[in-house]
Amino acid sequence: MDQPAPVRGRFAPTPSGEMHVGNAFSALIAWLSARSQGGQMVLRMEDLDPARTSPAFARQIEEELAWLGLDWDEGSEKGGPFGPYAQSARGAFYAAALQTLEEMGLLYPCFCSRGERHAAAAPHDADGRYVYSGRCRNLSPQQRRERQKTKSPALRVRLPAEEVVFCDRLYNWQRFFLPRDWGDIILRRADGVFAYHLAVTADDGAMQITEVVRGRDLLASAACQTALFRLLGYEPPAFAHIPLILSPEGRRLSKRDGDLSLSALRTRLKTPERLIGALAFACGLLDRPEPLTARELLPLFSWDRMQKEDMILPREWLM
Ligand code: GLU
Repeated sequence: MDQPAPVRGRFAPTPSGEMHVGNAFSALIAWLSARSQGGQMVLRMEDLDPARTSPAFARQIEEELAWLGLDWDEGSEKGGPFGPYAQSARGAFYAAALQTLEEMGLLYPCFCSRGERHAAAAPHDADGRYVYSGRCRNLSPQQRRERQKTKSPALRVRLPAEEVVFCDRLYNWQRFFLPRDWGDIILRRADGVFAYHLAVTADDGAMQITEVVRGRDLLASAACQTALFRLLGYEPPAFAHIPLILSPEGRRLSKRDGDLSLSALRTRLKTPERLIGALAFACGLLDRPEPLTARELLPLFSWDRMQKEDMILPREWLM
């Protein structure tokens, strides 16, 4: 009989700023899930966009994860068999993935400006997702040549007109109808930067990731990514989306909540045990917010205990 594939989890931060407590929570749960199954952990920097990310933030993220007591087997500094582990160094993989889709006849250039894309789109979703109208899908070769003279296009993929069904470990069965919920997505921007959905599927596939743990703001993304995994010839990983941490006022965390950045928490708390305890209590893994290390929390981890609602951490727990 075939051996089951070893569990491989990952944390894939975008080093475009300081980590906040929500990013730390994602890293913690991804680590607990992989390690509690005896699995490996990969740290991948999603520094696709050179204008928005910096190596300094990447180093800071690594340091802060280490401060939290989380370790990883493969990553930029550590190396590993599936490197490089920074997306800025993986352009050849994304070009190859695009080539595969091109050979399948699934790519087309899109000349729409941002304004046009949004004007012709279905109503915006809370996560900024919009459904492309397909305006450039059926341009003739002649029309493409004409437009190419004055504008460099983005590249889109024709996603199949299918329903994608998957079982999220926490939010259970999910169904998305690709034409209604996603439309054709951009895989390379007009400025040549590869798009998140392409990079994340090409990487999770090539790095043999078996489970993806991340904030529930990316739950719908799992649908278009599942379609891309299949087109690229990969078995999609298991998905586990987790609740978000809100500011004490109940908003999504942003830069305004500087006192919930990891660096501020680190300065205030000195050691990570109170933060880990607060996170574990808020998500249902502990009965009281008592301080403990990530390693001490490991035997207490179970997806069945995790609650699904977004969480607010009272400021006094983190003082
Ligand atoms: N890089 C993405 C972020 O920081 C996460 C991508 C993912 O986990 O799939 O939001």
